Parts: sequence; C-alpha cells; structure tokens
Amino acid sequence: MILFLDNASTTKTFKEVNEEINNCFINDFYNPGALYNQGFIIKNKLEEKREYLKSLVGANGYKVIFTASATEADNLALFQVKKNTKIIISGGEHPAIYETANSLKNQGIEVVIIPLLANGRIDEVEFKRQMTKEVSFVSIMHVSNETGAINSIKELCSFAKMVNPNVIFHSDGVQAFMKIDTNLSYLGVDMYTVSSHKIHGPKGVGVLFVKDCINIKPQILGGGQENGKRSGTENYPLISGFVKAVEILSPTISSRFEKVLKSKKLLIKAFNKSNIEWKLNGDEDKDSPYILSASFLGVRGEVLLHMLEEYDILVSTGSACSTKKIGNRILQNMGKSQLEIEGNIRFSFDAFEDIDIDYLAEKVCECVKKYKRIR
Ligand code: PLP
Repeated sequence: MILFLDNASTTKTFKEVNEEINNCFINDFYNPGALYNQGFIIKNKLEEKREYLKSLVGANGYKVIFTASATEADNLALFQVKKNTKIIISGGEHPAIYETANSLKNQGIEVVIIPLLANGRIDEVEFKRQMTKEVSFVSIMHVSNETGAINSIKELCSFAKMVNPNVIFHSDGVQAFMKIDTNLSYLGVDMYTVSSHKIHGPKGVGVLFVKDCINIKPQILGGGQENGKRSGTENYPLISGFVKAVEILSPTISSRFEKVLKSKKLLIKAFNKSNIEWKLNGDEDKDSPYILSASFLGVRGEVLLHMLEEYDILVSTGSACSTKKIGNRILQNMGKSQLEIEGNIRFSFDAFEDIDIDYLAEKVCECVKKYKRIR
C-alpha cells in the first residue's frame, strides 16, 4: 500500500467528487453559454454553485472567478497592478506569484520582496517599514507550501489599508483553504486564490475571489464568460466537483486540523527520539499541521526521497513546482545552511489517510542511516 505524504502537491479526488463529475459529464455537459434551454439550465446551475461556494466559505461580498488553476488565478490577480507603481510580495511566495511579479519589473513596476524569518513567516517589521502609501498592491501567501508557516494575513492587510486605503491586498490561500479558517470577510483581503486539486477536488479548477467593489480587467479575452473576467467555456462538471469537495470539507476544518496535528507531532517526536541528525524547518506549534519540512543533515533529500519510494512512501523535496529549479529559494530565504537545504524533505499530511507514524519514522531513520553507511 502506498503511503502518500505529498498532499501539498496534490490530493486524491473524493469518490463523491468523481461521481459528481461523472454525472455532470453525462447529463450536464451542455455549454452554459448556449441559447437553448439545456444551456440555460447549466448556466443557472453554474450560478447556483458559485453562490453556494460563497456561502460555504464566508465569501459574501466577493465575486468568484473560476480559472483553470491557482497559477492562473495568481497571475490574474498580479496582472491588475498598474504600470509604474510599487508592489510588495514576500520571499516565500510560490512561483505563480514570484515569477509573475518579477516579470512585471519590465513594465516599470517596482517589486519589493519582504524577506522571511528563520521560522518561515514574513518579516513583519520589514513589511511595516516597506508598506508606504506609494504601495499599490500587496501579495502575501497565507500558508507556505514549503514549510507550512502561517502569515497573519488579517493583521498585515489591516496595516496595509491603514497606510494606504486604496492598496489592493491579495493572498495566495492555496495551502490554507479548507485547512485553517479562511473566512474572507474576516481576513479583509481584496483578492484570494484557491486551488481545487489540493483539497480532493479535480485538477483544472482554481478560483480568484475578488471583492465586489473591485473591477478587475481580464487576462484571457474571448467570449466574455465569467462576467467578462475570464473567457473560455466554463467547465461545469469540474467546477461542480470542486464545490462538492468544499461541501464535504467545510464542516470539518477543526476536527481534521486536530487529527493531522497529532500525526505531525508524533512524527516530530519520533525523529527527536531517534539518533539521526535532523532539523525542523519551521515552528512546531504555530505552523500548519498539514506540512512538516525536515532537513536530514548529511543526506541528499532527493536520494532519500527515492530510498523511501522503495518502501512505497511518497514524499517531496519541497514544492513539486520547484523541483526543476536548483536549490530551494524559500529555505535560502529563511537563512538555512547548504546542508539543511540539501537534506530537505517535505512530508504533507491528509486527514483521510491513517498513517502508521511509527512505521514511517522507522523507515525514514533506516534510510538516513543506510545513506550515511554507504557514503
Ligand atoms: N500557490 C501555492 C501556495 C501552491 O502550493 C500551488 C501549488 O503547489 C499553487 C499556487 C499552484 O496551484 P495550481 O497547481 O492549481 O496551479
């Protein structure tokens, strides 16, 4: 049996979600833009799903723009930035924000990158120093996909608004959504990105929530779907599957949190009890319990990953999207040593899989020791 511990990269779709999608592909396949009645019915169902989603996640007062991924939603948010202005992002951002922000530099946009503290959260003192009234846009992720560090989005957003009431505050909530409280009205953000496949929904659906009072310009032009904000025929079956996943998950955020926290703590305890040299990248009590970023000193993370794979234990060496890039920008930003960066493994949990933590810890320690013996 496979022990899947890479749930931050993707998750298995729920059975109920698969059924919902299948059912829609069979019965509700009509184009929501078609003029005959079947199209009209799908359009109505789509609008019902949109409203239902808002009610499930506390997003009244927000528009829901369905996209094909969180990467697209992040891009759509950042491309709202006006030329010749100043923006703030953090050094911990996913490439969907980081690379997009960097690409804005050649439009005369000044991009300020707030460094991370050793615990993986953004340096709030530096944020407050840089957050002047000239800043037009801020994008700070809610939960780090590398370490699980949780940023204080509500506080950062209200500080930014106090300095510049016109600033647009966006947060990438991909690793937070359905895992911690992400009530948008409470957080006060202007825009928020989520991804379906990280929460047992299908791949191919992302959402950008946008405050009703903000008029965004589209990036994809065409038939004017999504109220003119994102053209392309809406994939009603996948959207419906995504909303089903949210419906299943939204009532159990705190119980799942507790369950996953137990697993994370047990694994930390087991590593501490063993005689392997390891370091936790983050803060055991403050980070998201869904992610445990560990550095096994003197070991190459990638080799360890493949050694664990021999036992059907699947982990990652950091976010899947950055495995093709050299080094680890996030851990570097946190001031980690080369040894810590090289030996990095990310375990990302899921509340629906019962994991034998003792077995997992035993195999990790066995592989670390074997690696060192061979070397
Ligand atoms: N933002 C964060 C924080 C992520 O972890 C990911 C995926 O790993 C993304 C954005 C991109 O999500 P998607 O795969 O839906 O494009």
